[in-house]
Amino acid sequence: MKNKEIFEESKKYMPGGVNSPVRAYTALNIDPPIIKKGYGSHLFDEEGKEYIDFIEAWGPMILGHSNEKILKEIEETLKSGVGFGAPTELELKLAKYICTTVDNVDMLRMVNSGTEATMSAVKLARGYTHRDKIIKFAGCYHGHFDGFLVEAGSGVLTENIPGSPGVPKGSVENTLIAEYNNIESVKTLFEKHKDEIAAVIIEPVAGNMGVIPGKKEFLLDIRKICTENRTILIFDEVMSGFRVAYKGAQSLYNIKPDLVTFAKIMGGGLPCGAYGGKREIMEQLSPMGPVYQAGTMSGNPIVMAAGYASLKELNNNPDYYSYMDKMGEKLQAGIYEIARQKGISLVVNRCVNMMTVFFTECSEVTSYEEAKKSNTKMFSRFAEHMIKNGVYVPPSQFEAMFIGVKHTEEDIEKFLEVMKEM
Ligand code: PLP
Repeated sequence: MKNKEIFEESKKYMPGGVNSPVRAYTALNIDPPIIKKGYGSHLFDEEGKEYIDFIEAWGPMILGHSNEKILKEIEETLKSGVGFGAPTELELKLAKYICTTVDNVDMLRMVNSGTEATMSAVKLARGYTHRDKIIKFAGCYHGHFDGFLVEAGSGVLTENIPGSPGVPKGSVENTLIAEYNNIESVKTLFEKHKDEIAAVIIEPVAGNMGVIPGKKEFLLDIRKICTENRTILIFDEVMSGFRVAYKGAQSLYNIKPDLVTFAKIMGGGLPCGAYGGKREIMEQLSPMGPVYQAGTMSGNPIVMAAGYASLKELNNNPDYYSYMDKMGEKLQAGIYEIARQKGISLVVNRCVNMMTVFFTECSEVTSYEEAKKSNTKMFSRFAEHMIKNGVYVPPSQFEAMFIGVKHTEEDIEKFLEVMKEM
C-alpha cells in the first residue's frame, strides 16, 4: 500500500491513525510519511522515498537506526526467550552500569516509559516527604500522567489543548505551575505553600516547548530552595539523559538532583524508562519500603540488553558528543546565515545535539511565553517544505530536533540546501 492508503486505513482503526498524537501532523497540511525502515541517519517510507532523520524517534536513536551493535545484542538475547517477569542478570547489568557511570544515582527502578518514570518519581517523592503538592513548569512535558497535564508542552501545546478533558480537577489541584527560567515564580509558590511541596520536577534542558536550556543560575537557585525546604528535586532527563552528555544535563550544569528520570536513549530504541537517585529515598520503594510501584514488563531482558549495548557504546566514545556538538554548531550557523540572506526572523536554540528553530521576532526564547509568540504558520511552512524534500524534521514548533552520531557533514549540508529553497 502507498503512504496515503495506509494512513487513511489506519484512521479507521486507530484514533487519528496514530498511537501518539504528534505523529498525525495536525499542524501541517501534509500527511505523515509511513516509515518502513531506517539505517544510520536515514529513513525510508513505504514508497521508497528517503529522508534524513532529524527526529530520531523523538530522541532514542542517537546511535542511528539499525545500529549493528544494538541489533546483535537484541538477537543474542532473543535466543533465550523474550521475558520472564523474574529477576535477571541483564537488569542488574544495566542498573549497575547506570548507577556506576552516571552521577547522583545510587539505586534505580526500571519501568516501561518516560511517563511511568516521572509519575513514579513524583509518587516516591510524595511518599518520602509525606507532602502532596508538586511544582512543574509551564511548557515542560513529563508524559501524559494526569497530574502533569496542566500547562504541558509537546503534543498538548501543538494541539492547543488546555490540559485535557478526562483529567479530574482533584488530579491537578496539587500541581503548582511556575515559569521556566524565572526564579521569582518558584519563590512565590514556596512562600505561599511552605512545608507543603513534595517535589519540584523540571526538564533541566527543556525540549517540549521547543528546546529551551535552563539557565544555570536558575537551576542552582532551585537546588538551593529545594534543599532549604526539604523538597525533592527531580530532574526529568527522559530526553536530555545520555543525550546532551553521557551523564546528562545534570553533569553539564554540575547540579545534584535528588531523583532523576530516564527513558528514550537508555532503552536503545525499545520501550523503556527508569527512575533513580539517593539511596535513602529509593529504599522507600516497595518491597523495601511502603511506596508501591510495580510493572509486569519492567526490566524486560531484550530492553535491558539493547539499553546496555547503547549506553556502553556512548560512554566508551566521549568523542561522539564533541562530534554531535560540532554538527549542531554547523547546522545552527548555517540556519542563521540563510535567515540573514532571506530576511527571516528566527532564533535557533541549541544544547549540544538538541535544537529548535523558532520563527520569531523575539531576540531570544527562554520561556514558554516567549516560545508561544513564535509564528507557527511560518514553522509549518518550513516543516512541510523540509519533509516534502526529504529532510525529516519535527512537525511542530514545540518539539526538539535531534542530531545523532550517524549524521554526516553531507546530511547537514543537505538540510541547509533544502532550507535555502524554502
Ligand atoms: N519527560 C520528558 C522530558 C519527555 O520528553 C517525555 C516524552 O517525550 C516524557 C517525559 C514521557 O515519555 P514517554 O513518551 O516515554 O512516556
